[in-house]
Amino acid sequence: MSEQKDAILYTYYNNVYLNITNACPCNCEFCIRRTTDTVGDSGSLWLSHNPPFEDVKEAIDNFDFSGYTEAVFCGYGEPTSSLDVLIKTAKYLHEKGIKTRLNTNGLGNLIHKRDITKDICDNIDYISISLNAPNAEKYNAIVHPAFGLKSFDAMLDFGRQCKKYTDNVIFSVVDIIGEDEIAECQKVCDSVGVPLRVREYTATYE
Ligand code: SF4
Repeated sequence: MSEQKDAILYTYYNNVYLNITNACPCNCEFCIRRTTDTVGDSGSLWLSHNPPFEDVKEAIDNFDFSGYTEAVFCGYGEPTSSLDVLIKTAKYLHEKGIKTRLNTNGLGNLIHKRDITKDICDNIDYISISLNAPNAEKYNAIVHPAFGLKSFDAMLDFGRQCKKYTDNVIFSVVDIIGEDEIAECQKVCDSVGVPLRVREYTATYE
């Protein structure tokens, strides 16, 4: 019997997703990792190991991108945890004429203990940062970040720094937090200067 390959690349509702790491410093209440290990027909999104760029390149080379113009870096972990692979893969996709989108928790600067936003913005076409909540206490109650209460401000600063390099950065929240909290989130986004996108809650993540 042939060995099951890791689900590094999968499609879902006409989008191509890249699953380059399972590492994540958070444990979000709504993360699909709490309820399922598949999206569509992805197969298990738990990876046997963090794939090196060569494995991600092989997955891309084996996929027919006809009809697809964009690939999305999106979990089943935090993509910026595997920064080197993320950047190399984004460059490779651009060589193939494919645009790139990053769904991130915005904690990459804490993960790497340096400002990675220029590296991200130089190589990613569209960045969506999960805001989740309007303040640090509510954020921590939902996201449970390993970095504690400083995470919320670090996530906001990630957006602020990205905005210096690109206009294609947004914060996102899910609609289930309710109108009052969404209005509070809008004020936070206005203060940072990054647009807010309110998205319908689904069983996906970020
Ligand atoms: S939703 Fe994203 S940031 Fe939250 S635990 Fe899941 S992978 Fe990590």
